Amino acid sequence: MRELQYFENCPVTTTLHSPPYKRMSYDSVERPHQLLVVVIDINPNQLLFARQPGSLTQLMNSVMTLLNQHMMLHTTNRVALVASHSSGCSFLYPDQNQSNSDILLRQQDGQYEVFYHLETTIKKKVAAVMQTDLQVNSSECLLSGAMTKALCHINRLQSARKESERLCPRLLVISSTGDTAAQYMNFMNVFFTAQKLNIPLDSCMLLQDSGLLQQGSDITGGLYVKVDALAGLLQHLAWLFLPGPGVRKMLGNPPPVRVDYRAACFCHRQLVDIGFVCSVCLSIFCRFNPVCTTCHSVFKTPGLPPSKKRKAAAQTQDNVLKR
Ligand SMILES: [Zn+2]
Ligand SMILES: [Zn+2]
Repeated sequence: MRELQYFENCPVTTTLHSPPYKRMSYDSVERPHQLLVVVIDINPNQLLFARQPGSLTQLMNSVMTLLNQHMMLHTTNRVALVASHSSGCSFLYPDQNQSNSDILLRQQDGQYEVFYHLETTIKKKVAAVMQTDLQVNSSECLLSGAMTKALCHINRLQSARKESERLCPRLLVISSTGDTAAQYMNFMNVFFTAQKLNIPLDSCMLLQDSGLLQQGSDITGGLYVKVDALAGLLQHLAWLFLPGPGVRKMLGNPPPVRVDYRAACFCHRQLVDIGFVCSVCLSIFCRFNPVCTTCHSVFKTPGLPPSKKRKAAAQTQDNVLKR
């Protein structure tokens, strides 16, 4: 029902005749050499897989369909898939250990060879990843590492290309783990690196919100969407994340979310509303520390601010005196 609401908010007639359509410039048309790098969290110990059996298959099928769709849009389009799991992060596609000559192109039921290759490679790699994860029983989300890997991959591809054939990269993160404040710094480093490299970071959260990824998408000009039911995942992916940022402006997107810009304290890795900031290294603490644990600067204990209690007490005293 929610999907329908989005369409209702943006009737077709207004979309077609609205100013952005008339003012369509080169920028708003998707250029060739689009690179879509999808980062996915497939940690087998996460809650989503425990609560909904069969959701991993559904998730992987939706993602593979998105990748195929992206490659179908233009012959110069490229895709990559990086997974974070409980023992680390791995490339699912392209297979980093496989050279181009190893690729076996065999048609299967008339299926396009590239799609067949993508599907078999990803399935094989997921099975291998799950095998290595059997010994590890950690539910910690290693998404920031996988995102860093994706950024490195983009950077390597870009540097190997001629100026005229540079890729138009973008990142899409799919996860169902909420805030992992333990990796706050890593996430922030990824966001600002992506912003500097001009790579939009789209986030698709499954059944849960993530304040950190909201911030990341906002910083880099990407789209943040929370999908409420896994059954609607493919629809969301094809509708919102298949078109690049240029085309997206012309579509009826869901209303933007209010970004939660809280930072995590460096002492307990918890998101705080108000905190103490080291004036030397800008580290954030939830309570006053006489010595900054990051840069070891020593601070004077601040005088107590006039508290409300005291003010209230003074006022009642005044009132008593007036009487
Ligand atoms: Zn703290
Ligand atoms: Zn400091």
